[in-house]
Parts: sequence; C-alpha cells; structure tokens
Amino acid sequence: MSDTHELWSDKQPGLRNLRINAERMIAQIEALAAINRQQDGSCCRLALTDADIAGRRLVESWMRDAGLSIQIDQVGNIIAIRFGTENEMPVMTGSHIDTVATGGRLDGVLGVLAGLEVIRTLNDAGITTRKPLALAVFTNEEGVRFQPDMMGSLVFAGGLSATEAHASLAQDGVSLLDELERSNYVGATPCGEPRPSAYVELHIEQGPILDRENTILGVVENLQGISWQEFTVRGSSNHAGTTPMGLRRDAGYCAAAIAVFVRELVSKMGGAQVGTVGQINLFPNLVNVIAREAKLTVDLRNVDDELLDIAEQQLLKFVEGLAARENVTIESRRLANSKAVQFDDTIIRAIEHVAEDLGYPARRMTSGAGHDAQMIAQVAPAAMIFVPSVAGVSHNPKEHTKVEHLEIGANALLHTILRLAGV
Ligand SMILES: [Zn+2]
Repeated sequence: MSDTHELWSDKQPGLRNLRINAERMIAQIEALAAINRQQDGSCCRLALTDADIAGRRLVESWMRDAGLSIQIDQVGNIIAIRFGTENEMPVMTGSHIDTVATGGRLDGVLGVLAGLEVIRTLNDAGITTRKPLALAVFTNEEGVRFQPDMMGSLVFAGGLSATEAHASLAQDGVSLLDELERSNYVGATPCGEPRPSAYVELHIEQGPILDRENTILGVVENLQGISWQEFTVRGSSNHAGTTPMGLRRDAGYCAAAIAVFVRELVSKMGGAQVGTVGQINLFPNLVNVIAREAKLTVDLRNVDDELLDIAEQQLLKFVEGLAARENVTIESRRLANSKAVQFDDTIIRAIEHVAEDLGYPARRMTSGAGHDAQMIAQVAPAAMIFVPSVAGVSHNPKEHTKVEHLEIGANALLHTILRLAGV
C-alpha cells in the first residue's frame, strides 16, 4: 500500500472531483435518529433492544437498496460487501449504531452512514474498486446493556469468543444470545470474516480539540493505554489529639501522599503521561479521628505502553516504601488495564494525503475514547478520521457537528477508501 499516493494522482485524475451527497446522508442520519427518540431529543437504542433492532433493520434495508450483499456473523455484526474487480481481501469501513441511553444522533452512526454514502457515490459514478469494500455495523459498541463494550469488534478481532459474548447478561437477566435469537441476528458467518486488508473508521471526535482549534479533520494515530488501580491502606484509628505523631498509622496521610506522588511523577515524566486520583474514601472519616483505612484509585494513561509500565512500577515502588515508613499495609487491586493502540502509518499518511489534496485542514491526534477501530487494529492495518464535535459534547442530545464538517468527513472517507482499495 506504499504507493497509494502515486496510484491516485497518476491513474484517475478525474476521480479527484468525486464528492458524496451530504443531503442524502443526513436524511438517513435523521431517519435513524427518529427511532425511539426521547422527549429531550436524545437517541436511545441500547444494544439489541427493540429500538436497536429497528435501527439495524432500517440500515440493512438501505444496504440492500445500495446493492450490497449482507452477512451476519455469530454475534450479530452486520457486514455488507460490495464486490471489487479482483477477489482480494476487502477494505473495510464502519462503526456502530447502538447508543447510550442519552445518545446523540452521530456517535457511531456517522461512520456507518458515511460508509454507505461512499458506496452509493461509487454506484452513481459507475466506479468499481479493485479490492472489495466491506461496510460493518458492530454489535454493542457502547457496552451499556451488555459488557464488555466494543463487544462486536472485539469478537471479530478474536479477543473474546462468540460463546463468551453470548453469555453476557443484561441487568434485566436476558443474555446476549437470547436477544440475538429473539431478533434473528445469530448469523452463520464465523466472526472475523471477511478479514479486511485495511480498516478506516470515520467518527465524531467526542472531545473539544478540533472544534477549539478550528481544524476540520483529525487523523487519529493512536489511543492511550489505560491503567486503573485501587489501593487499600490499612493503619489504625486513634485520637487526633493524644496520639504522638511518631506513633501514628495514618491511612489518610498515606492516601494523600499517594495522590501527591502521582501528580509529581506525571509532571516529571511529561510527554503524554497523565495521572489522576479521582476517588479517596476514608474510614471512619471523622474530624478528630486518625483514619484507620483509606481506599483510593489511581488512573494512569499514556500512548506508550513502556512508559505506562514505568509509571506503574514507580508508583508501586513508592507505595511499598510508604507502607514500610508509615507502618501500614497497602494492598493494590487492578481495575482496568488496556494496552495503547498505534494505528497504521500507511493509512494515516493516506488520510493526510487526502486532506492535503482536497484542501481540508487536518491534524494528527490521539483518541481519548475507545472505538471499534482499536479492536480491528489487532487483525488489520487500521486508522480513524475524526470530525469536530461542537464544544466537545457527546453522549448527550446536544451532540452536534456542522453539516459541512460531516460532508468533509465523508468525502475524506471516500477518497481514503479509493486510495486503499484502488481503482
Ligand atoms: Zn462511538
């Protein structure tokens, strides 16, 4: 794929003017948002509820109208194929259409419906790409009703078996398999098929950076690795007035010392390292009693896994020393641990070439949120395109992106796909 730039300009200069139909794409975004729209305007299509199923059926009908051949896999991922002139591994795009309970109309939906609009644009122009195209709707990205989140793409990438996913229980007691069977979405296609040669996903940023900087396209090059730990400090309660300082086993002091250490460590490391102590609970939590126990959380993130490991090790070393010095015990428990994801350099550069060719302002960035693309990146070269979220608002009915930015995002997706799939 190293020659994507040359391939573009040399072979098909006329294709440079190809553009998607924004009105047609937005009409579909609105139609999907109208399903089970709440009084406050928010979208509520939790994974595999009746509303989500209605949304899936509607999107499938549009896929068929566009001439696509639809496959459903064992966890209900919908993969729609447009054949290429050669029988190669497809270039895949897509995202999710399930929402949180107070969702906006664009989170996930944009990636799917822009992908569909790209395909209709190619249909209208009579263009068949060399590689096939695949448009994916991944099941249960949000993880509100069934855990884990990004489930469909995780299973697609082999990080979780279909059987494990099927056993996931909603709070109302039904399993994912129950809901897939009820809605006839247990497909015959094995998860992971067809394996893509490349994956590119368009998504709203869900953060404030592009909007604040007046940049239209975010070329997402990585996602942060995340480490969450909970520390439980055990000392002893005693009188705040009568206990000499040297004899205290003060869990409250230790919790505070850890919080201060995390800030100092992160400042010293610099770069992309961030750290947060977001929760401290003291027991018995009284004004005149030395705390016998403290529970606190530490959230460490970095785009570089090695640096994140170093941060964790330094924290543990500090905690061990603190426990010995203060005559307390400190237990740690891991709450979350996800690796950083580096997206594929060739696709990143292809997106940048497209932005440059079409004159759209773009910048490289890190995604602060999780996305299906990070799962697919385990099995195929992948990257993402972000468009601005006004004021960085998402998972909220006020989630908004200007129409011209949606259009530019979809055009960037079109031209990136053309480069990756070849003509
Ligand atoms: Zn999303």
